Amino acid sequence: MITKPIDMKKTILIQILIIVSVLVNAQVTLDYYLPSDVTYNSLIPAPKQFVGHEIGEWHLTHDKLYFYMLELARISDRAVWEEYGKSHEGRPLGQLIVSSPENIRNIEQLRHQHLLLCDPSQSGKLDISTMPVFIKLGYGIHGNESSAQNSSALVAYYLVAGEGAKIDELLKNAVILIDPSLNPDGMQRHSTWVNLTKSLNNNPDANSWEFSETWPGGRTNHYWFDLNRDYIMLQHPESVGRVAAFFRWRPNINTDHHEMGANATFFFQPGVQSRNNPFTPPDNQILTAEVGKYHEKYLNRIGSFYYAEEGYDDFYVGKGSSYPDIHGSVGILFEQAGVKGHLRNTANGLLSFPFAIRNQFNVSLSSLEAGLNMRNKLLESQRKYSSEALAEADRHSVRAYVFTEPSDNYRMSEFVRNLLYHKIRVYKLSRDISKDGITYKAGNSYLVPLKQNEYRFIRSLFEPVKEFTDSAFYDISTWVLPMSFNIQYSAINVIKEMEGLAGSEITEPPVVDGKIEGPEDAYAYLFEWNEYLAPKALYELQNAGLITKVATGKFTYDDGSFRHEFPYGTILVPVSGQPLAAAQIRSLIENIAGDCRITVYGVSTGLTPHGIDLGSSGFLVLQKPSVLMIVGDGTNSTDAGEIWHMLDTRFSMPVTMVTASRFGTINLDEYNVLIISGSPDVSSAGIENIRTWNRKGGTIIGYESGNNWLARNKLAEIEYVTESESIKKEGEYANRTLDNLSRQIPGSIFETKLDLTHPLCYGYTRDRLPVFKSGASASKKDNNIYNNPVIYTSNPLLSGYCSKTNAERLGGSAFASVHGTRTISIYDNTNFRAVWYGTNKIFMNAVFFGQILGQGRNEYGE
Ligand SMILES: [Zn+2]
Repeated sequence: MITKPIDMKKTILIQILIIVSVLVNAQVTLDYYLPSDVTYNSLIPAPKQFVGHEIGEWHLTHDKLYFYMLELARISDRAVWEEYGKSHEGRPLGQLIVSSPENIRNIEQLRHQHLLLCDPSQSGKLDISTMPVFIKLGYGIHGNESSAQNSSALVAYYLVAGEGAKIDELLKNAVILIDPSLNPDGMQRHSTWVNLTKSLNNNPDANSWEFSETWPGGRTNHYWFDLNRDYIMLQHPESVGRVAAFFRWRPNINTDHHEMGANATFFFQPGVQSRNNPFTPPDNQILTAEVGKYHEKYLNRIGSFYYAEEGYDDFYVGKGSSYPDIHGSVGILFEQAGVKGHLRNTANGLLSFPFAIRNQFNVSLSSLEAGLNMRNKLLESQRKYSSEALAEADRHSVRAYVFTEPSDNYRMSEFVRNLLYHKIRVYKLSRDISKDGITYKAGNSYLVPLKQNEYRFIRSLFEPVKEFTDSAFYDISTWVLPMSFNIQYSAINVIKEMEGLAGSEITEPPVVDGKIEGPEDAYAYLFEWNEYLAPKALYELQNAGLITKVATGKFTYDDGSFRHEFPYGTILVPVSGQPLAAAQIRSLIENIAGDCRITVYGVSTGLTPHGIDLGSSGFLVLQKPSVLMIVGDGTNSTDAGEIWHMLDTRFSMPVTMVTASRFGTINLDEYNVLIISGSPDVSSAGIENIRTWNRKGGTIIGYESGNNWLARNKLAEIEYVTESESIKKEGEYANRTLDNLSRQIPGSIFETKLDLTHPLCYGYTRDRLPVFKSGASASKKDNNIYNNPVIYTSNPLLSGYCSKTNAERLGGSAFASVHGTRTISIYDNTNFRAVWYGTNKIFMNAVFFGQILGQGRNEYGE
């Protein structure tokens, strides 16, 4: 056909108008996404038919996406829905399992057969050529990286409705697990935000409100945690369910779909090779690169730009792309330039939400094609993974790790729970042994032999590491789990020592029940502060209106029939003078002891043979903490979320969270503890109120960067140890980022020394404590020598990356200090990722005992 010049102009104009219209009004249709070589079963509803808008036109809310998956499972014999958990806010977590109708009918049998690949005693017998490959597609663990979740609906539709030989071939040979939204609560927040700020005519101006989600944004879960860092810690129901699902299905490929900055293009793994985790099996990166060839092909086809091997790495194995890697699967990180809205001006021109979704959809399809074509290779790699783990364990110098925590049953129990979640086999210790000066008693010590399937992962959890091939890290550089739980542990290297050492295997975390001891008609009740849940017990007592006191000295109790040494920080509940009758007090304490798994001692007299007596002024009356925390713009949602999560879920304590803009309207006298993290924009009148309130008895806790704020507002005098000596004198321009990274502390573990007589250290039984630190700042000790209860030891690095100059600078500096009387600086993170059970107590001591600082018993005048 010959087109006249005038018509051609017209055609071009019309085409331009259509493109502009698609961009501005997002009148996108399904054809934009779906490949044209597949036809679709008209009985299967396309997403728009079910949710009421085209994919990319609006953001799917979580409920719409979830019910669409259920609908596909309901009407198709190719799909079933498996729920594996619920988010904090009660949203279902699950995956749509898609395969051929025949495979779906036999899905349990196929799953069992597949799992045998990871059982070296069985795997050799399997005929891999007849087995399907298992592929998990995981979307949007960061709730506001929404091209991910929105593309999952298209993938599900494509697989369930698609017809023809190509689809049949794929479904016959693959079991596909579509996890449409890995963080439902975050997705719901973000989709609500971008839909409520969307204009009918999309406005691409990046200054628009649409692109600046309100604090804390939808990236994180309910408690503002980054779920893509929780795969090792497993402190959230989303991750616990997901990791259980991982072990139930052991997928060969695990995709992990994300978004990055709006001005970027698209990233797929492999990431930075020099930063790969050394425990990940060597063929993993080769397979990842081979899978990458398929992404290259698919993205070329639609003209999208991309990159690999830069910027992201798999060193930290607690992420969605790296946890599978160290477990014999191929994890693949995808990062799409994020729109965070519907249409946005970027350095690369207009970036539309549908365009971002189409990229995510295409790399889902390329991952499936790679899985199909590499089926034998992937299954073989998985089989080799387990059998080689056992052989490698035989060659390794460490035979087992033994561990104990005699002073805190709950902490030990939570540590073991974590190991069991990771399918690590744990055994009771069958006899007492001594190792590294530590006594491991059979009753409360456990053993993890290295020769088991999880050999590589166990090493990554237990082995301190100080040598690295690269000094740059995308995330933290170490995660020695016994250190974060402050659990004593030793390596056993000699085979002979192992003989008969493993007792029975345990399948549940060990629980030591709480109890109440002593006479029914007790004169007073006492309990020690060392158990993890002791603060919860104290709070429940205070909440019931009881007078409670804390021992600022130690003492020996001995009434002839019962003798016990009570340490600093022991809690005393008198029976007389209380608003409840003696029997009511006992029954309450009985419940609390059970609930908090502590031992409470009922005692019959007030006089002690050594140390303070029960009526001594060395016992100080405690006020119930009433905690206020400033949140919102300027503050750090990660720090605040960790604090909120800990107080709420572990200790059942309320925390009143208030934004800086409302702070001025708050009557501070209703609170006695104020937590500052980050840099809230509080008015000068508000600062003055804090100063007055602090003088009258309020406790200020400066947390991490919140201490800069305290110093700036002259609420505390804080000095930092200068960094100048560690800075290079000369450098090359191209190395500026790496030079800067090598000066950082990316997240490492250090040793501190505790003053066990100080209220901030009550409950600790050993004067050495591993702590977590990220960021290279080092704080000078307070001038008052009694105000530095937690300091870094002189050679503090226990595990992780830290330059020599930084380690020297850190030695002797403060981890936590007190300024004046009731202003406490906790300079580093005691609550990191909710897994630092070992340092949580320092924070809780600040909350409960900040009020008594500077008071109480001195050793003078015994
Ligand atoms: Zn992300």
